[in-house]
Order: sequence, then structure tokens, then C-alpha cells
Amino acid sequence: MIFSQVVPAPADPILGLTDTFKADPRTDKVNLGVGIYKDEAGQTPVLKSVKKAETILLDEEKTKNYLGIEGVTLYNSVVQALLFGDKHPVLDAGRAVTAQAPGGTGALRIAAEFVVRNTPSRVIWISNPTWANHQNIFETAGLSVKEYAYYDAAAQDIDFDAMLASLAGAASGDLVLLHGCCHNPTGIDLTLEQWQKVGELCRDKGLVPLFDFAYQGFGRGIEEDAEGLRLVAGMVPELLIANSFSKNFGLYNERIGAVTLVGASADEAKVAFSQIKRTIRANYSNPPAHGAMIVSTILSRPALKAEWEAELAEMRERIAEMRTLFVDSLAKAGVERDFSFISRQMGMFSFSGLDKAQVARLKDEFGVYIVGSGRISVAGMTKSNMPAICAAIAKVL
Ligand code: PMP
Repeated sequence: MIFSQVVPAPADPILGLTDTFKADPRTDKVNLGVGIYKDEAGQTPVLKSVKKAETILLDEEKTKNYLGIEGVTLYNSVVQALLFGDKHPVLDAGRAVTAQAPGGTGALRIAAEFVVRNTPSRVIWISNPTWANHQNIFETAGLSVKEYAYYDAAAQDIDFDAMLASLAGAASGDLVLLHGCCHNPTGIDLTLEQWQKVGELCRDKGLVPLFDFAYQGFGRGIEEDAEGLRLVAGMVPELLIANSFSKNFGLYNERIGAVTLVGASADEAKVAFSQIKRTIRANYSNPPAHGAMIVSTILSRPALKAEWEAELAEMRERIAEMRTLFVDSLAKAGVERDFSFISRQMGMFSFSGLDKAQVARLKDEFGVYIVGSGRISVAGMTKSNMPAICAAIAKVL
């Protein structure tokens, strides 16, 4: 017998919470754990631009034949345009290659496995704290994970000097995982000057950035959110990007993202791409089509693209509004602690500073679910659930 020896896996810190939430019989419960955008009515509807693209596809799709290993060709070029903008030296030199991937998670996994199989690199540096799944993905792919300092809990801000000091200990060829924007879980991003310094450090020490870009358009705007990535990409010879369209197209269950490799030359990128394709072939052979068809249909038609941009802006603006309302409502609920830092954070999440015991009380006594680290999904807040959430937080503080 072999299966009798299997020990139970610990529950996932985020998706495990959703399972507990689903089983909770309380009707006034709120899930602010997983990062899913909700509208003012508490729903996660399909974007109108996505529905329109799907109608077009239903009409025009002629075959369900396999895609190539790298996915939809048009998709890979529209993805590059979104990442790098209309014009970027990397694109001009043909140094970027892109393969479709099953979500940001799939892209990170392919990137990591490609590195382990084809390069001498074995170490990746991730921020402390970071998205709960990073360590899991990278260790499973065979990388060893080290942490760089990022968050200063007392100042509720980035500790940039400490970040540079930790990365000074990285060795040439090590990967550095960087959140392109909307850092998960802290919501605190690098300024352009700080990106410049990180780019210089990577260039001077021979570190290879791996950008995790899961929230483009959720911070300041589609182009603005890519500024750090575009700057660093212009400074270093080699990098990797794992991007996701789960959030900014609301395509969570379509599992659509991409892995992009930038090589020192177009020829080197091409060779590396052959190995990325080999990694994909060994994992799932070739990707599913639907999500990539939706994204490429939208991004290649100016009218549909404009509609998507407007819908994305609406999501971004609603979250920003909820941030301000959250800070105001906490004060109204009698909370004396200064939570104004929440309105300076970017993206779906707010890093609240609540401790594990307070998080547990929120769940057990009030049916308010947030991640153990104190990360709250502001994107799940609405004008109607806000008073109850803030009253509960006031009681556990
Ligand atoms: N990276 C980060 C930082 C994320 O927050 C997420 C989603 N929570 C992902 C990657 C993965 O996204 P996907 O669902 O597309 O796999």
C-alpha cells in the first residue's frame, strides 16, 4: 500500500478560507479573503466587453483543433503590447518571446521550471511578505527560496533600504521576484526612483528579475502600472514576466495569463523559447483556447479595447472609493487607531495590521473572513457591507 502513507496537506491559507466561508451558515458573512473583484451589488459579473468578444467568437470560431504549444499567436503579440507599450527597445530588438499560460500561476510555474531545467540558477528571492502561493510554486519547481525585506510594519510603508540591503546578498544569476504593481499583500509599490535603483542593482549584480504582473490596471492605470516593468526591462539584459488576466479581465476561471522571456538578443530569446515550449509540452502539452481568444479579440479591436479600458477604470475607481470609505467608516465606528495608510495602498488589498487573534475573532464572532496575515480584500467591500465590517473591526481591536 502506498496511499495509506500519505499525510494530509495543510489547508491553503487563501482558498482554504473560501472553503470554510462556503460552509459557514451565517447569512451576513463576508469573504474579504480571496482577491476577487465585487461590484457595488456584491457580484462578480462577466465584463460586457468579454461577453461581446464571446459572442463574436461563437459566431466566428471554426475549429476546436489544438493550439500550438505557445498558444494563440495574436494573443502573444497583444500581450507584449500591453506589457511594454506601443514602443519599447526590447520590442524593437525582437528580444521578447511570449507563451500563453494557464493563469499567472501557470506562468510563474513555467518560468521557474524553465530556469531550473536550463540554467545554473537555483535561487529566487521573494519579498517578505508576499502572495501566499509564491513559495509553494517556486519550491515545487525546484528553486530554493530566499526572502528580501520589504515591509516596515511600524511605519506601514516599504523599507526600501532594507530591501536593497537584503538583495545586496544575492548572487549573480539569482532570480528576484518583483510585483509589477499592486504588491500583494501590502498594497505598497516602488516609486519610479526606487525601480531605477532596483534595476541598477539587478544590472550591476547580474540578478534576473521575474516580474509577477497580476494586477495591471488596478493601481493607477494600464500604462502607469507598467512603468516599473518597462523601466527595468530597459536596463537589464535578461528578465522574465508572468502576467495574469484573471483580475483585469475578470477571467478568473478561464485560467489565462502568459510567460514572457526577454533575452540579451533576439537569437538567444528564440533558443530559450524552444525550451519554454518544451517545459509546457511536458506539463500540459498546449494551453486551452477560450481565455486567450477573448483577450486577443478585445485587445485587437479598438472599440472593444476602449470598452474594456472603461470597465477596468470603473473597477479601479470603485476600489479606490472603498478604500476612502473604509478609512472614514472605521473612524465613524469609533476606531481611534490611525488607518489612513490604507488609502495610500494600491490594488485590491489592504494590509490592515490586524493580528492573527483579531483575524480569528473577526471570522468566528462576526463572519468577516480575511487572510491570517491581516490582508483584507478591499475589492470585496461595498457601501452596504461596510458598516458591519467596520463595526466588527472596532470590536476586535
Ligand atoms: N500573482 C499574484 C501576486 C496574485 O495575487 C495572483 C492571484 N491571486 C496570481 C499571481 C495568480 O493569478 P492567477 O489566478 O491568474 O493564477
